[in-house]
Amino acid sequence: MELRCTQCGATLEVAPDVRLLACPYCGTALAVSSAGALFNEVMRPTVGAAEAAAHVRRFLAGRRTVAGLDRQARLEEPELEYFPFWAFTVRGGAGERTVLMPAAPDSLQGLQGLTLPAGETRTMSAEVAGGARVVPPEIPLETAEAWLREREGSVAVERRVLYHLPLYRIAYHWRGRRYAAAVDAVSGRVFHADYPAKAEAPYLLVAGLVLAVFGIEGLVIGNLLVKLAVYLVSSPPILLIAWLTARRV
Ligand SMILES: [Zn+2]
Repeated sequence: MELRCTQCGATLEVAPDVRLLACPYCGTALAVSSAGALFNEVMRPTVGAAEAAAHVRRFLAGRRTVAGLDRQARLEEPELEYFPFWAFTVRGGAGERTVLMPAAPDSLQGLQGLTLPAGETRTMSAEVAGGARVVPPEIPLETAEAWLREREGSVAVERRVLYHLPLYRIAYHWRGRRYAAAVDAVSGRVFHADYPAKAEAPYLLVAGLVLAVFGIEGLVIGNLLVKLAVYLVSSPPILLIAWLTARRV
């Protein structure tokens, strides 16, 4: 397959399975897409590995995960990798911005429609990546652009670039299962796949119990003072049950 270097215009002969390359004439890092050759740019990590692990711990301690998960989960060593995104610089009502769409399939949620985090962007090179894994793009540019149109409507795309965003992969283990998570090494944002979520059923049971007890008391007892007294007596055990549920789930 023949491509033209985006920087110097040289004609390059590229094998069909090659997705990433450096122009042999000018050294520019290029990505092979359905539209030809595109610039391959990268952002430098500003978040350290220990800091990334702390971000994941905070997510595990949050309201959406089971109680005590941050203490019980065993985290694996953070592993830095460069994950590919097709980046579209679009002009819309709010001015110009760069929207990212994942260029490789992944179980992590929330990768679609990220805006480019503030930070310095540079040309991709072996020196920037160091020993970290650089994931090649697999999702075609047209597919990513179709996602962009679904999300943003008919916006004018001014520039298309392949971005490699540094991510720390941090897997964790809990009750014999392995869960995937990652931290954006530029913004510190946590991405998760499936996670041990707080169960809703116990809360619904407690809510049902409250409705049943107070509802029956309200219907059966006519005298207002007696009703208030019974409410006062039945409240503490219900509060205790609610508190125990919140602590355990
Ligand atoms: Zn070139």
